[in-house]
Amino acid sequence: MPDATPWDTDSDHLREECGIFGVIGAKDAAAMTALGLHALQHRGQEAVGIVSFDAGQHGGEFYAHRGVGHVAQVFGAPDAFAGLGGAMASGHVRYSTTGGAGLRNVQPLFADLASGGFSIAHNGNISNAMALKAELVRKGSIFQSTSDTEVIIHLVATSRYPTLLDRFVDALRMVEGAYALICMTAEGIITCRDPLGIRPLVMGRIGPKESSETVALDVVGADFVRQIEPGELVQVGHDGVCHSHRPFGPRAPRPCIFEHVYFSRPDSIIDSRSVYEVRKAIGVELAREAPAAADIVVPVPDSGVPAAIGYAQQSGIPFELGIIRSHYVGRTFIQPSDGARHADVKRKHNANRALVAGKRIVLIDDSIVRGTTSLKIVQMMRDAGAAEVHFRVASPPTEHSCFYGVDTPERDKLLAARMDLAAMAEYIQADSLAFVSIDGLYRAVGEAGRDGGKPAYCDACFTGEYPTRLTDFSARAQPDQLSLLVDKVA
Ligand code: SF4
Repeated sequence: MPDATPWDTDSDHLREECGIFGVIGAKDAAAMTALGLHALQHRGQEAVGIVSFDAGQHGGEFYAHRGVGHVAQVFGAPDAFAGLGGAMASGHVRYSTTGGAGLRNVQPLFADLASGGFSIAHNGNISNAMALKAELVRKGSIFQSTSDTEVIIHLVATSRYPTLLDRFVDALRMVEGAYALICMTAEGIITCRDPLGIRPLVMGRIGPKESSETVALDVVGADFVRQIEPGELVQVGHDGVCHSHRPFGPRAPRPCIFEHVYFSRPDSIIDSRSVYEVRKAIGVELAREAPAAADIVVPVPDSGVPAAIGYAQQSGIPFELGIIRSHYVGRTFIQPSDGARHADVKRKHNANRALVAGKRIVLIDDSIVRGTTSLKIVQMMRDAGAAEVHFRVASPPTEHSCFYGVDTPERDKLLAARMDLAAMAEYIQADSLAFVSIDGLYRAVGEAGRDGGKPAYCDACFTGEYPTRLTDFSARAQPDQLSLLVDKVA
């Protein structure tokens, strides 16, 4: 039986893998990029990098600094930006996705192409990277990293089109999967979202700037202008003039619905909707679909809070903080190995025993992945004297892996892939268990329900209906390692 001491809820969630931020036309662009990345730190804690461009010397120079750790660790020193001059910069925070954890995979990646310097920061995952890499290597390409993102650089480098923009589009036409990109050349910034818009990207203005989420624009004092549309490519020159291109033809977008459930910060706006309000609306749907006779509604902090507020408002059951999260234990550096992942699992949460004792509780969490955390939290509520524990989940059962840049366990580790509802309730030792339905989730994001013939979102981790081909997976390649060389993080 697992112990019921406080745990780390972060270790049993799907984990967004990357956040990207770029700025052009701003004094101290690199420092501003670091500030933006700091606001996106929840999207990746393993490593961070910034590339800047200073147009002042010899037709312009690129500068780069990358490191392992949080933004504050890598860019916290007073002289951290001394070598990152210029009015244009882009940056990347990451958790290890395809390619492994080594420093050589820390983005933005940079290459000297025939057309000049080219940097690329990528959020997402290329689902045919192995197949493309095999072909590129066969033709003579020599890869420097094990990241799927480097495939794009080689495709650009080997394209036969005359202009960099045409080469870039040519490369992206060969790529499957999910990507939000911020690239830099000496001429300016190029941003692009994949044709389905699976991963988010928004645009703001002081500079202007581009970022994974609106919250990063807020933090640097920029106004939200709009999202980069699915399949849109936007060029921004040093004069601030934007050119929008639609190189892929019209496709129905399929943005990631899990951004609303968990990945994005609640103070962000996605697709013109407040993430916080959507999460509350999921709680409302959950209360309608899965009522419980209980005395209090308790969120699993912090990600279950907005849904619990919605559940409480709809049900009329009081919202209470039955679990207290310590504000003095930060989200410490997370290494992508199991041993390190579980090293920081204690110390963060504790039951509010005086509140919980003798009460019938509705516990609200955003998702169940492996189920290990859910079991511990139910145990903790019972140890604190709860009379009943009714577990409610603000997403449908996560039954399938994500191949679009989200760290998901193998399918056979997902609780919902292994068990039916009754068995899951028994496993986590809850008196009852219910998930919001897929239609309820769609209603919460403003749809009438899920249109099975034409879903408005990517929801593959719930439905198994992947919106793109999965070439590498279908070929049974190992998409988490694109090289024979195994990297180690220092
Ligand atoms: S599979 Fe799930 S987590 Fe991955 S992009 Fe689709 S909805 Fe998002």
